[in-house]
Amino acid sequence: MKPNTRIWRQLLVQRRSFSTSPRRLENYAFIGLGQMGYQMARNLQARLPPSDTVRLFDINQGAAERLAHEMKSQQVGGAAVLVSASAAEASIDADTVITCLPEPQHVKSAYESILRAELASRSQPRLFIDCSTIDPSSSREVAAAVSSALPNGQGHFIDAPMSGGVVGATAGTLTFMLGAPDSLVARIETILLRMGKRVLHCGPQGAGLSAKLANNYLLAIENIATAEAMNLGVQWGLDPKVLANVINVSTGKCWPSEVNNPVPGVVETSPASRDYKGGFGIALMRKDLKLAMLAAKEADAKLTLADKASEVYETTEAQESCKGRDFSVVYRWLSGSK
Ligand code: NAD
Repeated sequence: MKPNTRIWRQLLVQRRSFSTSPRRLENYAFIGLGQMGYQMARNLQARLPPSDTVRLFDINQGAAERLAHEMKSQQVGGAAVLVSASAAEASIDADTVITCLPEPQHVKSAYESILRAELASRSQPRLFIDCSTIDPSSSREVAAAVSSALPNGQGHFIDAPMSGGVVGATAGTLTFMLGAPDSLVARIETILLRMGKRVLHCGPQGAGLSAKLANNYLLAIENIATAEAMNLGVQWGLDPKVLANVINVSTGKCWPSEVNNPVPGVVETSPASRDYKGGFGIALMRKDLKLAMLAAKEADAKLTLADKASEVYETTEAQESCKGRDFSVVYRWLSGSK
């Protein structure tokens, strides 16, 4: 046998024995069990084998305990579940840490406490997946802190903000926008597809957040423009359903006009048709708009409509009849309807 052939055969044997060896046990930590995280962690745990472990942590200890109880009582397969007393305790043995937290300061403080713990002493590489919607530069700051605490590729922090809302989180149909090096995409996809149905790789770390914020900026503006155009038509005496039908086969068509139409009764399944309940909360839209504006400022990108849009959402949310509703409730404020 020629030397090259021998080496090739050895490689094949090694590869075969690798692929048939038993799967290594995986430890996960899930931190932040609010509206989104609670459902995501539930889907992740249910889709992992019993040999794996998921450790849960939320500063609201009751949420972690309730979820652990729910997971254990419904357990048909699924990973083992443990409740942790801190983010650091949840992460200490984890190969993969998933965070789903409200604002940049919560993400920074959770990772500070994780990195303060004795992570550096471990030899096993670990992956941190942050699903929170925060600004790209805060995300890059955390990524840099992870790389310096866990050098030589021992720690990777990637951003995976999502869309699909609580309905998508519950059904496991979220879309994730991923900011990560190419070499990690396949591994991250396997994990995220246990909680969602689509992973869009947008580029290196931070790119997922940039894509998410650019999209939500557009949505913020389209929603207001749709509410104004619909209100205009109604004031001119047009039937709102007729107007929506015209827009939706014309150039003004967009998600707010077609799916989330802000006028009650135009789209039966829209939040507007159920008193603007459910859907994408106006407070979350305000938050995403603020983050997009911050990131635009840092990139020196001009946003001429942002300040006005921000003012519209703020004024709308200040109305008692609009607070806590879907962001299309802008129409209620604009039209002066009840
Ligand atoms: P939420 O406020 O319902 O939940 C956040 C959870 O984090 C809470 O349970 C809170 O107790 C916990 N928490 C806060 N600080 C913590 C810390 N330091 N350590 C551990 N736990 C901590 O928020 P949510 O609706 O679940 O959203 C989470 C993230 O997902 C946000 O960034 C949000 O913008 C984004 N998001 C939300 C939606 C949505 O429809 N709700 C959709 C897409 C993206």
